[in-house]
Parts: sequence; structure tokens; C-alpha cells
Amino acid sequence: MCLTRKSRLTDIRKQVLKTVWSSHTPIGAYDILSRLNARGGKAAPMAVYRALDFLMENGLVHRIASLNAFVGCAHPGEHHAGQFLICRDCGNVAELDNADVKRALAKAVTARGFTIDSEVIEISGRCPHCREHTP
Ligand SMILES: [Zn+2]
Ligand SMILES: [Zn+2]
Repeated sequence: MCLTRKSRLTDIRKQVLKTVWSSHTPIGAYDILSRLNARGGKAAPMAVYRALDFLMENGLVHRIASLNAFVGCAHPGEHHAGQFLICRDCGNVAELDNADVKRALAKAVTARGFTIDSEVIEISGRCPHCREHTP
């Protein structure tokens, strides 16, 4: 993707992306940093933040504001707003990309004369797996 967009996926960006993807739950910037440096790296916090900004701009990761953490995007390459289902038990995050939700929200928001810069919907609850194992 970065090749087609002529964006540069530098080494630190690649490592940060890999670290986000290797985590099954959202991961914070400092956890990313310590995982990188645990493998013998000498990454600086600013470099990690800049890499995360780059990855977000290019739609490869999303920031989950309520957790202050990052997840890999399940639909990279398409421009979309995220809708996230966050399990409060296991911490897993599922990404929804529901066009109906998006349309309904856009309609309601523009009816108020408001324009949207960014929209991320975070829904907290319990995933099917946790519901099945702990009633
Ligand atoms: Zn996404
Ligand atoms: Zn769960």
C-alpha cells in the first residue's frame, strides 16, 4: 500500500506497525516502545509517536481514544471512519465498518449544521467469546 501511495514505510514505521499487529488487544504507545526496545532497539518515544501518526494518516492503524491505545486496521486501503466494539473483559477490539451507521450519523449531524472532521465510534461491552465463557 505504501508503495502505491509513494509513502515511505521506514524501518521504525514498519516495526511499530508489526508491533501493533502482533498484539491481539489495543496497545499503548509506551508498550510499543518497550516491546521495540526489548528486542534490542533504541527507539525514542517521539519516533514511535511520529510513526503512529504516519500509520494513522495512512489508514493502517486506528487510535482507540477511550483506551489511549492503537489497533491495526481491519480494512486498510479504504477511507473509513472507525466503529469499534471494545470488549471490557478480554480487551479485544472488533472493527465494524457499517455504511448504514455512517450515513445515519452524517445525516443527523449535518441536520444540526455541524461538519465532521473525524468520527470514531467506540462501543464498550462484551464479545461473544466472553459472553459464552462467563455468563
Ligand atoms: Zn479501519
Ligand atoms: Zn471478550
